[in-house]
Amino acid sequence: GRSSQVNEDDIRKYTFDDVAGLNQESDELKEIVIFLKNPQTLKDLGAKTPKGVLLVGPPGTGKTLLARSIAGEADVPFFSISASEFVEMFVGVGAGRVRDLFKSAKSKAPCIVFIDEIDSIGRQRGAGIGGGNDEREQTLNQLLTEMDGFEANNGVIVIAATNRPDILDRALTRPGRFDRRIDISLPDREARHKILSVHARTKPLCDSVNLKDWATKTPGYSGADLQNLMNEAAIYAARNNKSVISSVELENALEKTRFGILSKPLSDQTKK
Ligand code: ATP
Repeated sequence: GRSSQVNEDDIRKYTFDDVAGLNQESDELKEIVIFLKNPQTLKDLGAKTPKGVLLVGPPGTGKTLLARSIAGEADVPFFSISASEFVEMFVGVGAGRVRDLFKSAKSKAPCIVFIDEIDSIGRQRGAGIGGGNDEREQTLNQLLTEMDGFEANNGVIVIAATNRPDILDRALTRPGRFDRRIDISLPDREARHKILSVHARTKPLCDSVNLKDWATKTPGYSGADLQNLMNEAAIYAARNNKSVISSVELENALEKTRFGILSKPLSDQTKK
């Protein structure tokens, strides 16, 4: 997902209803919602609470959406940052940003801090040769320091997303840091049906359109791809002065989006 700088945003509130086909994953996260709603209660009960959650999965599978929906469900602020922004920065800037991010978050706790593309700062340290690594390492070190520096019970939950868990520095996944991992895969047919239904909620569909059929026609499509498919279909309808979306528009949208799906890396294409 896109995001710039350190931002606390409330563009719109997302809930688990916006996330389709990830029931098992959102069940695991319900515990975090409960915690965010009553950090003190759990603290008083002496319960061990999470600090960091790693969401792992291919692009467009709803990692950002899921993180946002936890904030929405718990009704707490959502701070987000994309780690890839740090890569091109001058030494010290990224670390400063991370410090600022946590400072703002702590003042608004309970809340969620979301770090997208954590692999861009979180890859194994010392693995590269020569220049360009200092900034990344400093930023990563600052993140580790911040996570160690707050108690799990202070109400800041850090959620990070990646599609490259294999290259992450092991320091990140140590207990007390990102010690929970949730894997998200490309949606299967049933999940694609549910995702299409979510994105059809706000669109007038012709009665003859059966979304189940469209789920069958879209193997390899991620949630983001399916959203895009519905959107392209709506644009075709508008262009042709139609007030409902029919199979014709969906077929056009499928043609237009299919090329992008087929050119994805093979590892991202598997799913019936
Ligand atoms: P990236 O790794 O590229 O940041 P991501 O996994 O964070 O991707 P999102 O940004 O959450 O993916 O998904 C983009 C959009 O795709 C969402 O805003 C949503 O509209 C749609 N989408 C993705 N997954 C789902 C889903 N499971 N249910 C409903 N919509 C989805």
